[in-house]
Amino acid sequence: MHGDHIFGLMGLLASCGLAGNVDRVDIYGPAGLNEYLQACSRYSHTHFSYPVKVHTVRPGVIYEDEEFSVVCGQLNHRVTAYGYRVVEKDRVGRFDVEKAKALEIPPGRVYGQLKRGETVTLNDGRTIQGSELCGPTEIGRKIAYCTDTVFCDGAVELAQDADVLIHEATFAHQDADMAFQRLHSTTTMAAQTALAASTHRLIMTHFSPRYAPGNSLELKDLLLEARAIFPNTDMAYDFMTYEVPRRREVVLSGKC
Ligand SMILES: [Zn+2]
Repeated sequence: MHGDHIFGLMGLLASCGLAGNVDRVDIYGPAGLNEYLQACSRYSHTHFSYPVKVHTVRPGVIYEDEEFSVVCGQLNHRVTAYGYRVVEKDRVGRFDVEKAKALEIPPGRVYGQLKRGETVTLNDGRTIQGSELCGPTEIGRKIAYCTDTVFCDGAVELAQDADVLIHEATFAHQDADMAFQRLHSTTTMAAQTALAASTHRLIMTHFSPRYAPGNSLELKDLLLEARAIFPNTDMAYDFMTYEVPRRREVVLSGKC
């Protein structure tokens, strides 16, 4: 609930209303968020033209549908702070209809069985394995987002095997004393979290303005510090986008 994380929310919600294409907004956050938004709305005389539902979260699974699940985990900061892990579910490999047709497998119920990876005996006596006709399983991607925390087990847990870990790095390594006092992370803490959790990529964010250009330490130095520990590190910047690549796994048998 620190200001640097919520001051933009009212503006964003107001802009969504002006854009006019919003049916409903669901916001997930810590206790106090609903009261904060209600007060902002009351004193700024801003009323949303669409329903806004605030869900107060606690550690555990906070959202799940057919495509994704989201897990909330406790971090270690001066106020209650949570990190999040978004997990995309694995998707079955694509059934190759063309190949099935080429093999002269008659369409019908058999297709469904083959799609599920079952082995089917056709009327003409041939035995076909479903796995031969399905592409590789698409492994779901995992993203962890941890901000406002000193190095903690909760962050490592959220980031376990993640494709991308977005982690705060408020301070350079030499300012670790300040990081411990204020319960923020250094570049090395962020990198160690990524390393301990066997994540694939680290994107650092939430930098102190003390590393602005012209100072003795600059953002590019922070990047070098982190890369010395975890080479696959990048720095976030405003409006950055990053498409998380999909990892592929070849399925040799069983369900496809
Ligand atoms: Zn912050």
